[in-house]
Amino acid sequence: MSRARQLSGRVVIATHNAGKLAEMRELLAPFGIEAVSAAELGLPEPDETGTTYAENAAIKAQTAARAAALPALADDSGLAVADLDGAPGLFSARWAGKPADFGAAMARIRSELERRGVWEGERRAHFVSALVLAWPDGHEELVEGRVHGRLCWPPRGEKGFGYDPMFLPDEHSRTFGEMSAEEKHGIDWAADEPRPLSHRARAFLALAARCLPGRSGGNPP
Ligand code: IMP
Repeated sequence: MSRARQLSGRVVIATHNAGKLAEMRELLAPFGIEAVSAAELGLPEPDETGTTYAENAAIKAQTAARAAALPALADDSGLAVADLDGAPGLFSARWAGKPADFGAAMARIRSELERRGVWEGERRAHFVSALVLAWPDGHEELVEGRVHGRLCWPPRGEKGFGYDPMFLPDEHSRTFGEMSAEEKHGIDWAADEPRPLSHRARAFLALAARCLPGRSGGNPP
């Protein structure tokens, strides 16, 4: 296996999703990497034609890296509900429609579970994040993270984005929507074992170990 490539200088965050952008900026902050978003560069959003999270993340990262002539980091992610055979999964953003309405998307999860007669009790679900870091010459690094938990109704909390208010990570009594960004990431940079919580933070920590330079300090401000 070839050695992982190191990232330095500037990186494009290949997303037009404000929630993801904020989280990826926060995660990159301690590494001294300058992050510019695809929207700030006026890059178009490619069609997500892949059949896996990894394929869609690669499409987004490769498209941005080529267009900007810079390394690009993309996340493709989703919420998989066990009793819905993994839906909405790859279609998590599409379930919210355009313009996005995640209140409606969460209500749809609930009503689909009710229709199947399985809403009552603990409904298992997990989030997945595939992160691809791509360079303009086509080289790419892929990592994945997931977090398991259960769904609640009604949704709780105004923080976060997307399906956060409906998702209770295992061993926690508050939803992602009730957690600060730091709690959702769960990373204590000063600890020997940073113990990330969210799917994106877990994937990011694997990417950092492989491709990012040393950090400049403890927890980000
Ligand atoms: P995509 O990766 O652009 O296809 O969009 C993924 C979608 O999954 C987002 O629009 C959200 O609806 C959902 N999602 C992914 N990660 C999270 C998260 O951390 N919290 C809440 N929803 C998420």
